[in-house]
Amino acid sequence: MNKVMVITGGSRGIGAATAYLAIDRGYAVCINYLHNQEAAKRVVDSIQQAGGKAIALAADISVEADVIDLFNTVDTKLGKVTALVNNAGILEQQMRVENMDFARLQRVFTINIIGSFLCAREAIKRMSTKHGGRGGAIVNVSSVASRLGSAGEYVDYAASKGAIDTMTIGLAKEVAEEGIRVNAVRPGFIYTDIHASGGEPNRVERVKEFVPMKRGGQAMEVARAILWLLSDEASYTTGSLIDIAGGR
Ligand code: NAP
Repeated sequence: MNKVMVITGGSRGIGAATAYLAIDRGYAVCINYLHNQEAAKRVVDSIQQAGGKAIALAADISVEADVIDLFNTVDTKLGKVTALVNNAGILEQQMRVENMDFARLQRVFTINIIGSFLCAREAIKRMSTKHGGRGGAIVNVSSVASRLGSAGEYVDYAASKGAIDTMTIGLAKEVAEEGIRVNAVRPGFIYTDIHASGGEPNRVERVKEFVPMKRGGQAMEVARAILWLLSDEASYTTGSLIDIAGGR
């Protein structure tokens, strides 16, 4: 069976590392991104130079019509999705809850939660044996913030990841008999651009002392767990949450 992976937010950070590893494992990959076309193009170009098959598609995962178009285009250009990595996610400026306005809460919850639901929905329609599909696997990118809470920084973000954990457990049970496994990874402090959106680009350097392993993680260390969860090596693993956080 052709292996086709959709990675939301695949143009940078953990998503891009996942794309590079997926090519090594024989997937054709759709790299979804929001605005940064240059970054997406760089990932696609380097995959194609290495002989892999990849396309970049812009879509805002928090917009239903965009998500529908994204999966329809993947059907046409790569074939039906067999692996979904629900990776795109945002955090915003560090602040206490009493200072968070409605617009911010709406952005964080819509992108991080509803976006992941919409993508899972489109993937299930194509993967589920109940709908004539051949099965597949979904990995949600949550965060250890879901159990730590991110007090004083972004409790909204942490709560959105709590929703992703619960979605992973419930959805895994819902589709377990239909050939689909659903799992999540929960990274800790990983060196990517996301910390700049919180107003602290060097956050990992500041907080790494709080990690038992005394270092931040690399995007590729998360990607390896994602690829394992998607592979047949994880054939009896569903509804699991794997922390990749140096012991934190
Ligand atoms: P990142 O470097 O900031 O990259 C974010 C990616 O998501 C980019 O490709 C971006 O596209 C895309 N994106 C953002 N909003 C989107 C939208 N509405 N629709 C489609 N794509 C969108 O992030 P990262 O650090 O790799 O994080 C990836 C995931 O890991 C997130 O879910 C994050 O919460 C989780 N995580 C990260 C850490 C960490 O320490 N880095 C820790 C725990 C969990 P553009 O380039 O076009 O903007």
